[in-house]
Amino acid sequence: MTMLNVQVNRDRLWQSLMDLARIGATEKGGVRRLALSELDGEGRALVCRWFREAGLEVTVDRIGNIFARREGADPSLPPIVSGSHIDTQPSGGKFDGNYGVMAALEVARTLNEAQLRTRAPYEVAIWTNEEGTRFTPVMMGSGVFAGAFELEYALAQRDLDGCSVQEALQRIGYAGDAQVGGRSFGAYYEAHIEQGPVLEEMGVPITNTTMLGSLIKATGIVNIESLGEPIQNRFGKIAQKNVNAYTRSHKETTIIKK
Ligand SMILES: [Zn+2]
Repeated sequence: MTMLNVQVNRDRLWQSLMDLARIGATEKGGVRRLALSELDGEGRALVCRWFREAGLEVTVDRIGNIFARREGADPSLPPIVSGSHIDTQPSGGKFDGNYGVMAALEVARTLNEAQLRTRAPYEVAIWTNEEGTRFTPVMMGSGVFAGAFELEYALAQRDLDGCSVQEALQRIGYAGDAQVGGRSFGAYYEAHIEQGPVLEEMGVPITNTTMLGSLIKATGIVNIESLGEPIQNRFGKIAQKNVNAYTRSHKETTIIKK
């Protein structure tokens, strides 16, 4: 059996997180990058540049969700998707949301470097306005995608200055033309830094193992075509190293969000 030694580049992942955190950096070491603000536009531009440099094809839908696609050997298969949000709370941190997107990008970069071709396409997602501090409802982009809200309803929401979501999207150049939703994913997984005590208080188990297991389960249907072997073990190793290294050095709590 051919063994592959595939590992994410943890220094590169860390550097990307730090570079992104400079946009909207606060004096106390956090980040303030509200949804669809000018700074959110700058953050999106930087990450989209990274997507394109990684050879991913970038699509923006009408609510401003971004999908960066790495084609699979069989493009007719539904994509395996991973991502999160890069908008932040008014006094947000460097990792909430951002880690999920950067980790998903790191997977694509790692697959490129290892010259691995997956059977299904792989996509990195950035969901619009997950935090909901400037515009409500929260989890807006993913909500429209999943059919929880109507697109027109979401686009018509206004911030305290009277600016609508539609206007804000146009202002920063992310009023895309792709249809929102209407397609299925083979699997979706999200690495998420949770900063509140709610899940802990509810007794929901929060462990690396839970996350790792979910990642393995989610990615299990991806295969390396040239070898014809399930990739889940290798993905598992990637995820394990990634998560262990990250949580060990930064003592954040890591969970699966959805
Ligand atoms: Zn979040």
